[in-house]
Parts: sequence; C-alpha cells; structure tokens
Amino acid sequence: MRALVLFLTFTLTLFASSQRDFSLYKLGTSKGPTLLIFGGIHGNEPGGYFAPSILVKHYRISKGSLWIAPNLNFESILRFQRGCFGDMNRKFAAIKKNDPDRKSVERIKRLILNPKVDMILNLHDGHGFYRDEWKNAIFNPKSWGQACIIDQKCVNDTRYGNLDELARRVSKRLNHKLFKNHHIFNVKNTETKMKDEQMRLSLTYFAITHGKPAMAIETSKNITDVAMKVLYQLRAIEAFMDEMGIRYTRDFDLNLITIRKLLRRYGSVVINDNFLIPLDGIDKILRNVPLSRKHNRITRSDHPLAALKRNGRYIEIMVGPKKITTLYPAYIPSRQPLDAVTVETDGYLKQIGVPDRFTFKKRFTVFAPKGIRVNVIGFSKKGVRNESGITVSATKLLPKYAMDRENRLFRVEFYEGKYFRGMVIAEKAKE
Ligand SMILES: [Zn+2]
Repeated sequence: MRALVLFLTFTLTLFASSQRDFSLYKLGTSKGPTLLIFGGIHGNEPGGYFAPSILVKHYRISKGSLWIAPNLNFESILRFQRGCFGDMNRKFAAIKKNDPDRKSVERIKRLILNPKVDMILNLHDGHGFYRDEWKNAIFNPKSWGQACIIDQKCVNDTRYGNLDELARRVSKRLNHKLFKNHHIFNVKNTETKMKDEQMRLSLTYFAITHGKPAMAIETSKNITDVAMKVLYQLRAIEAFMDEMGIRYTRDFDLNLITIRKLLRRYGSVVINDNFLIPLDGIDKILRNVPLSRKHNRITRSDHPLAALKRNGRYIEIMVGPKKITTLYPAYIPSRQPLDAVTVETDGYLKQIGVPDRFTFKKRFTVFAPKGIRVNVIGFSKKGVRNESGITVSATKLLPKYAMDRENRLFRVEFYEGKYFRGMVIAEKAKE
C-alpha cells in the first residue's frame, strides 16, 4: 500500500510540474521608448490574452518598441483556470524552489529589469466594475473591472513615473467611446505599500519597487463579450503608446465586427517541422496523423496561443482554452522532411516546400525524388503503390478523407521506407 501511495505522489508531481514557457515578441525599432505588455497571468481572463495576441499579429511599430508576452500562464490559459499552480500574480515577492511557476516568474522579473524597458502593463479581466463608492456587490471600491490599477501615485525619478496622471489621462480617453455607460473606466489606487498586503506580492509591485513604472489594465469579467473586452484592452494599449510616443499602425479597423473576425482566425500550425494543419475550417478529428510516440511540438504557428495538449491517446490542438481539433496519432518514425517537391497543377509546374500547400482546379501531379513514396490520402489507383508522377483528378478524391469541413484540403504524404518525410496539402480551388 505504501509503495502505491508513493508512486501516485510521484506521478502527480510530474504532471503538476509542467508549466509551459511563455512567448516573447519584440516589435519595433531599437530607437525610442519600450513598452512591455504582459498578458495571461490569469488563465480565465480572456481579454488579458486575446488582446495581446492581436497586437502580435496585426500591429506594426514604426517608432519605439513594443515587447509582448501574451501567455504568461500558458498552462492555465489552456485549462481556463486562474492559476493551476496557484495565483502566479502572488509569487513576485518570494517563490518556492519547487514551484512549477518559478521558471516563468524568474523570466518575467528579468524582463521587467531589462534596462531597455520603460513601462509595463499587465492585462486582466477583473471582477465587477470598480467605483470609488459602494453601490452594490458589482459596482464598488473592492471591484477590479474597467480600471487602470496603480499601486501608488508615482515612481520617482523615472520618465513615465507619474502613474496617477497617466492612468487618468488614459481612462479619460477610453471613456469617450463606451458600448454601455456603466463600462466607464476609473483609476484604482490600491496604495499597496500601506494598505494591500496581497498586492505586495504582485508583478506590478515588484516592478515599481525596482524603479519601473507599471500598472494593470482590467476589463470586466462581467462583460461577457470577449471581442468587446479585447477592444477596450487594445484602445488602452494604444492610448499608452500615444502617451509614450510609440508610433504604430494596424492592418484592420478597430471595431467590434473586425475584432470578432480576427478572434475567429487561427491561421496554421506546423507540427514537428513536417505536418501542416490549417486551423480555420478544419475537421473536428484528423485521423492517422504521423506523430512521434515520445515528443511532439508545434514548430511554426500563426497564433501565439496555439498549443498541443495530450488527452489520453489523442492530441488536441488548442488556441487558448478553445479546442480546435483532435489528432488521432499514427506512430510513425520520421526523418528530416524533404526540402521540396515538384507539382504540376492544371498544366503548370512549380516547386512546393515541405510542408506547405498548393491549389489546383481539376487535377494535380506530385513528383517526388527517387526512393520516396507518395501517398495522396483519399486517392487510390489499382496496382499503384507509389503515387509519384500519377495524375490525380479532383473527382477521384474521396471527400471523407479531406482535412476540412468544406472537403477541399487533401494530404499528400511522403515516405522513405518506414520513415515519414513530411507532407504537402493539395487544396481544391473554390469554384
Ligand atoms: Zn487577473
């Protein structure tokens, strides 16, 4: 019995110690001020991590710099929990050696202390709506939502140290365009040093006590439309960039309709450098995906919150807390993917990198190097084992083998002996 208990403890510890590394994106030029944005310290606050994900993909910086870490508490984001290893935002004064968040917290601290960083924002979705005076359980001084949170009025001897004035100017600007009057932004000063023992353990307090101006932007958990929260967060960040003289452009109009569209756009991921999966419109299940028995990872991704998550025998592709598709693995050993293959589509020849995609209208032919077997999934021709050089007509592809809901994406896989050597996707053009 005792042995069994020990064994259980051991496996639970192993499982519990798997915090994932967060990503860091650096946009902009080396000249001018640097704003550091932290998102996703709490995994159940989507405004706090989808807003920085849009920043990463859709903004360009032409003066100054924007550093963005959109997914600080990545494991908790995938599980939609505040903190699956406890509250990460209470670990900045002290942290236990064996804490699963330790590596991330140490890395966050180093970023804060980087001499290039001039100002720090930590993004959240807080409870209720902050008000100076008590109105009810939702609108009151203890609430956090729709506020710039400062630990104290200023940080002396730094360029953006006048936190109170800065927060008031930004709030005022946000209040020009609100979807509902009660979404009004305020400044909440927690007066951390004197009054708030808990906040003394937080990220922003660590920053200001090390001479770095920092504050939190909180949208409200009581606003249920994620796009609306993301829009408020982006407007706040733009206001801070304007205050600091950081110049930016974005490739979309800042309104609810476009934000909703962007939030539904996931792009593609590449797994293990050899398998491409376009996530938009993908089937709920992909079968027989060549994967490694031991270790699989995303090696290229269009979305900062894309991740692989094991679920028993299967592997799920997540974007934040949302499951996009489930992979049923075929455990096949792999070797370095081919560099490229030649493809003929409707009479034209081209080179396609591996993995990548090409479009065709009526037919295509894939020519692989000698010794490589080509397998077009959803196509077969009697007596043919290697489909290299074989012309595939659109009408001969079985829709149930397509990767996507519109039945337009077909896998073309390459094998050398028993080894998988990558794939390309043949995409049937829209009629
Ligand atoms: Zn939070």
